[in-house]
Amino acid sequence: MSVSRRDMLRRTAQLGATSIGLGAATLAAQRLLRDGERSYPVNRSEQAGSPSRPDRLIRPPGALDPDDGFLAACIRCYRCQDACEFGAIQFFTEQDGKHYHTPYVDPATKACEPCMKCTEHCPTNALAPMTVDQRAEIRMATVELREDLCLSYKAKRIRDEQAMMMELGREPTESEAPVERRGPCGECYMFCPVRERAIKLEPGAFLAPLVFPDKCIGCGMCEEVCRVIVRGEPAIKVVPLREWS
Ligand code: SF4
Ligand code: SF4
Ligand code: SF4
Repeated sequence: MSVSRRDMLRRTAQLGATSIGLGAATLAAQRLLRDGERSYPVNRSEQAGSPSRPDRLIRPPGALDPDDGFLAACIRCYRCQDACEFGAIQFFTEQDGKHYHTPYVDPATKACEPCMKCTEHCPTNALAPMTVDQRAEIRMATVELREDLCLSYKAKRIRDEQAMMMELGREPTESEAPVERRGPCGECYMFCPVRERAIKLEPGAFLAPLVFPDKCIGCGMCEEVCRVIVRGEPAIKVVPLREWS
């Protein structure tokens, strides 16, 4: 008799009701039952017309460096993906050569919300076990900010231009008005799990972000929210620490 994934979840949830120590598994199973079947991110190779390889090579948190044998340590078991409640982990396919069936995170699809669950479930320590309290130590990638695309910096520029126009006794131009109405943003700061380390806000009313790449953990939360806000090329993006090889 085959047992469906849903049946297994239901049994786990029932077991957890009478067993001490299964609290986390129980909660997870109950949540999944409530939400229905888990929807995993679709690997790009499964999306019509998309390349399988993301632009950036970003491994999940705690990943060993390539030089320390990540590819040898990862046994392609997919347990990290199973553990990821946020659907942030995707897997390379056979088309990706030596990287096949190893995990990656692409914030253009889903950022990592650094809960560290994947590191707890990796059976070989290819992802070194880490707690949430240690998340400031992870280095999945780093960050770059383009002030020319950032709404806060745009608002600031427009304020300066308008002050200049007023000094000259002229009206502000129409094309600048829509951006001005959006006003200051600062959402990347709000979403950054290590704000005040990786992102600070410039003093003043414009909530303009200042980034500190050496303190960034590379989770991509800032990029994810910025992509929604600017509705196009995000002003803040994570950049990989490793080259494709
Ligand atoms: S830390 Fe959490 S959100 Fe990030 S990849 Fe691992 S399980 Fe997913
Ligand atoms: S979320 Fe984007 S637009 Fe908003 S302040 Fe941050 S970088 Fe600028
Ligand atoms: S700056 Fe962005 S990528 Fe870096 S830690 Fe903060 S949210 Fe994550």
